[in-house]
Amino acid sequence: MRSYSLIASAKINLYLEIIGARPDGYHNLIMVLQSIDLADQIDLRPLGTKDVCLHCDHPEVPQDHTNLAYKAATLMAAKFPDAFARYGGVDITIDKRIPVGAGLAGGSTNAAAVLVGLNLMWNLKLSNKQLQYLGSLLGSDVPFCVVGGTMLATGRGEYLSSLPALDNFYVVLGKYRSLSVSTAWAYQTFRYQYLEGNVSDTLSTENYKQRVYSEKMVYAITRKNERQIGQLLYNDLERIVLPQYPQVQKLKEKFQHLECAAMMSGSGPTVFALTQSQQEAQQVLESVKIEISDPDLDLWVAKFTSSSIRVASSVK
Ligand code: ATP
Repeated sequence: MRSYSLIASAKINLYLEIIGARPDGYHNLIMVLQSIDLADQIDLRPLGTKDVCLHCDHPEVPQDHTNLAYKAATLMAAKFPDAFARYGGVDITIDKRIPVGAGLAGGSTNAAAVLVGLNLMWNLKLSNKQLQYLGSLLGSDVPFCVVGGTMLATGRGEYLSSLPALDNFYVVLGKYRSLSVSTAWAYQTFRYQYLEGNVSDTLSTENYKQRVYSEKMVYAITRKNERQIGQLLYNDLERIVLPQYPQVQKLKEKFQHLECAAMMSGSGPTVFALTQSQQEAQQVLESVKIEISDPDLDLWVAKFTSSSIRVASSVK
């Protein structure tokens, strides 16, 4: 049997609109999701035993059954008991480069990599659609992470349609190392402040207006109109997170003063700025580094990519 090394990409949200609260506690969303080449490496090694083992030396990543990569492996074992009995367990090593609790879907992309990797290792021949269904049992962002690229996501994030690839963009990402935001807290606070008493799928007039912006965003992406894409960046969760974390607001403003379109990704606290070349991205990064000059602020340059999970190597 083969061992696999997989590259698992982070995502950013070019658009995140909360349409309404659902009775099951989740929210109906309209999102435009984009894979970027900031990525973790996931190594899967067959074990002779019937165990799932997980290693990750990042202090904020759980190494037990609560890790999403571990959950993905046990889900596969439960759904495909014959393959699990035949091929045995798996040893998972996560080399974490995506910041944790950052709104970049780090855990979700690790889970997607395990689904894709075990599909290969156990010779299951599942389609992307089947893997995405399994991913939806693990978390709202996992179905996107199975395929990645540029996608429109609705429902909880599980109804996906591919949009034309935006390969030419670079982003500068900024995250304060000591800050992480709980996704559950951000959504619950939004629900409490803006949706309570409106637990339905019905669109309010305000939401309807916003939905038109999502259609404009899709149109701008289809036309690859970079200026318009920048103008249409949107994230409802900024209304919750930015007032609570003024340094995140200031970071966004700093990017904007450098004439970049900027937005918080997902539930934050990572903020990204769009640029159209690696050189421009590097210049923006250097300027922000000098102007903010805070050792707690991590900055990265990343490129948009047209896929999420990639097999880097496989050996017998
Ligand atoms: P999302 O954007 O999907 O909401 P996020 O990027 O904000 O997620 P993650 O990096 O996925 O956040 O981490 C959220 C929490 O999930 C962490 O605090 C961590 O305890 C837990 N977690 C479980 N599995 C993993 C994993 N494989 N990698 C990172 N965090 C994980």
